[in-house]
Amino acid sequence: MTIQTKSKQHLNYINGEWIASSTNEWIENTNPANTEEVVGYVPKSSKEDLGKAVASAKSAKKAWRKLSGDARGKYLHKAADILESRLDEIAESMTKEMGKTLPEAKGETARGVAILRYYAGEGLRKVGDVIPSTDSEALMFTTRVPLGVVGIITPWNFPVAIPIWKAAPALIYGNSIVLKPATETAVTCAKVFECFEEAGFPAGVVNMVAGPGSVIGQGLADHPDVNGITFTGSNAVGKQIGQAALARGAKYQLEMGGKNPVIVDSDADLDLAVDATISGAFRSTGQKCTATSRVIVLKDVYDQFKEKLISKTNEITVGDGLHDGIWMGPSVNEGQLNTVLSYIQKGREEGASLVLGGERLTAGEYEKGYFVQPTIFENVTSSMTIAQEEIFGPVITLIKVDTIEESLEIANDVEFGLSASIFTSNIKKMLTFIDDMDAGLVRINAESAGVELQAPFGGMKKSSSHSREQGQAAIEFFTSIKTVFVK
Ligand code: NAP
Ligand code: MG
Repeated sequence: MTIQTKSKQHLNYINGEWIASSTNEWIENTNPANTEEVVGYVPKSSKEDLGKAVASAKSAKKAWRKLSGDARGKYLHKAADILESRLDEIAESMTKEMGKTLPEAKGETARGVAILRYYAGEGLRKVGDVIPSTDSEALMFTTRVPLGVVGIITPWNFPVAIPIWKAAPALIYGNSIVLKPATETAVTCAKVFECFEEAGFPAGVVNMVAGPGSVIGQGLADHPDVNGITFTGSNAVGKQIGQAALARGAKYQLEMGGKNPVIVDSDADLDLAVDATISGAFRSTGQKCTATSRVIVLKDVYDQFKEKLISKTNEITVGDGLHDGIWMGPSVNEGQLNTVLSYIQKGREEGASLVLGGERLTAGEYEKGYFVQPTIFENVTSSMTIAQEEIFGPVITLIKVDTIEESLEIANDVEFGLSASIFTSNIKKMLTFIDDMDAGLVRINAESAGVELQAPFGGMKKSSSHSREQGQAAIEFFTSIKTVFVK
């Protein structure tokens, strides 16, 4: 059921009801492939709206945590079935709202279904250990309890998967939630909450409030009744949220940026490395935290790799992601497009050589969208801005190196540590890479941007607050351990 007031107006979901913001102000969301198309209007909510949502989550948390994990899992299963039945429609909304191609949007929505089912099953798994006491007449064990109300702040680049990979574990472990979606994709997120509504969660267990990050996001981080806060987004915002949570003693988790390297060794399968580099760098228009960005190539295969990379990149079709045959869509909005173009300009100024792309596309079908060419730079040194900062766009920097040791040094020479790949057939080099690469996801002969829902996900260094999401690792954030001693 799609709940709308006037045409295309989407509401907040608070205490089991769809309600308009107290401000009665709206934010217009447009299609980045065609900015004349309005996808929907989302509420520009106030702190008052947020307060209502937190109060409803607070009043619902007690009864929710008293349910068995099995009973909570049934709601997640139901939500999964409903999301699955609406997969095509929700994927289309995602493509229109933020630009990724329809096949990618469908894949992401299917991932959301799978995550819900995975965590539904978690309701029946163990939540503690028995630990031998030094007192032979005592029983000592751990158990896990929910945090209470969990605030969730999500980015626009995975509008279905990220809200679900935070909401599903929060819920299965007994927390109630208030989610603030990225404004850019709040229409698509509202559709996920329609699935939650239809699944019949008790009123107040799941809440969504859309609105500006500085008001609703910051408000969640500051709110005294929000017991834990989980955030995915940029480093600048993550830092503020972490500080706000720390100041009032709330638990927090931050997943932030990346600047992910790929090493192409002399022993690599070059065709595999080229395909994976292109997929890692240009899928979703480079707007993934795990996107490939620094491509470090051993000198003896450099020319061959570069030729193949250019030739395959030339085959990429750019356009409206709803259309068949389009491989890469637009940047999400004008600001992001301008950021990408300014990094390209910076690369030129700092002396890197542009070997492909580098321009905004504006002719014909591109006229009304935020399209940029897939772009490749060479003669890049590790200290250049384009090799250090997260661009979040379709830009590859090629760095030529003499030795494998040098490649690893350069791979580690960034503030981020989310994901990293090596292409090699040499087992010793693989093992050295696994040991010495400072990244939360280390991938061998596979693209940097691959994530499996049942495995821990998260970064090292500035990419994360060092906790992990997804798989069974999620229990660490969404619960607290109690050590119990029974005499
Ligand atoms: P962002 O600007 O940091 O926004 C993320 C979320 O924070 C949005 O919901 C945003 O709301 C909200 N927000 C903005 N300002 C805020 C404030 N002052 N206080 C509290 N919340 C605030 O990031 P983005 O541009 O959406 O996403 C791109 C970034 O996310 C990239 O850096 C990318 O690497 C990172 N990312 C990381 C992962 C990961 O798992 N490591 C995954 C995906 C993306 P509004 O939308 O209303 O501004
Ligand atoms: Mg949009």
